[in-house]
Amino acid sequence: MSTVVLPEHLQELLAQAEQQRGRAKRGRYAPSPTGRLHLGNLRTALLSWLITRLQGGEWLLRVDDLDTPRNRPGAEEAIVADLEWLGLRWDGPVLRQSQRRGIYATVLSSLRRRGLLYPCRCSRRLLADISAPHGRSPVYPGYCLSQPVQWGVQQGRLPSWRLRLQPGELHWSEALGSPGCLEASTQVGDVVLRRSDGLFAYHLATAVDEALLGIRDVVRGLDLWHTTAPQIALIQILGAGLPDYWHVPLWIDGAGERLSKRDGGLGLPLLREQGHDAASVVGLLAASVGLVEPGARLSAEELLRASELEALRGQLASKA
Ligand code: GLU
Repeated sequence: MSTVVLPEHLQELLAQAEQQRGRAKRGRYAPSPTGRLHLGNLRTALLSWLITRLQGGEWLLRVDDLDTPRNRPGAEEAIVADLEWLGLRWDGPVLRQSQRRGIYATVLSSLRRRGLLYPCRCSRRLLADISAPHGRSPVYPGYCLSQPVQWGVQQGRLPSWRLRLQPGELHWSEALGSPGCLEASTQVGDVVLRRSDGLFAYHLATAVDEALLGIRDVVRGLDLWHTTAPQIALIQILGAGLPDYWHVPLWIDGAGERLSKRDGGLGLPLLREQGHDAASVVGLLAASVGLVEPGARLSAEELLRASELEALRGQLASKA
């Protein structure tokens, strides 16, 4: 896979990030402000904080707010308030992807110049017919692979821009399970990096941020496991080192369903109404993955002092 040549200022940021990755175990929690955090999100946040702090690392809070039609007013404030209430303190200011658009645009131009992107005019409706194996997002069949780069300009409309992935296996390490491996052409496909509505896509922003922020541990829900393949492909194209990935179990409710942020799944307001304080919620979250006994009450800091990284990893691996 060829690497891209970034402008000097980004190259410098990347070099600093690489030093950072080698020096300190930096982690991040990256919620989208699409609604209030539910128990599953809160547990992922707690685990991300714990895993980073157990290694003495810095923990960043990054708000993935690029998909503006899905953002909900007040959601970011509620997320920040919930994390603070739980006693999870992050380092530095809250990072918002919407304030980093200039960086994504520059990386995108560099990828385009390197011939790693192609414009795509396939509509959602056209692609909806492609069946998705095992419920994952469908693999793009490459209809626009030979579309000339000027296509959008010629047609007077914005295309989406896809990453031209080289065929071959993409491998990454998983802290909680067997190593990840997906084949680029048949299991991943050429993902969209810039959407036809002009918005930067999740894979681009995430990969650029892991690389340029020097993230060492990515702790997130198991539902995002398959997104790792295109993201590591991009991180490698940027010439950065790969983070360690921890895909943690999702919270399944009594009816066997995943909680959804957009549907207002069980969150802190309801728990508080039921009389829970922060110590009992931290206890509830930690007990749900077997880190403490059911009914335990403790602060996030107390949980940190009582935990040990390898034991935590073993416990989570047995649940994943
Ligand atoms: N923003 C994404 C979400 O809330 C998570 C991104 C990530 O952790 O990679 O689902």
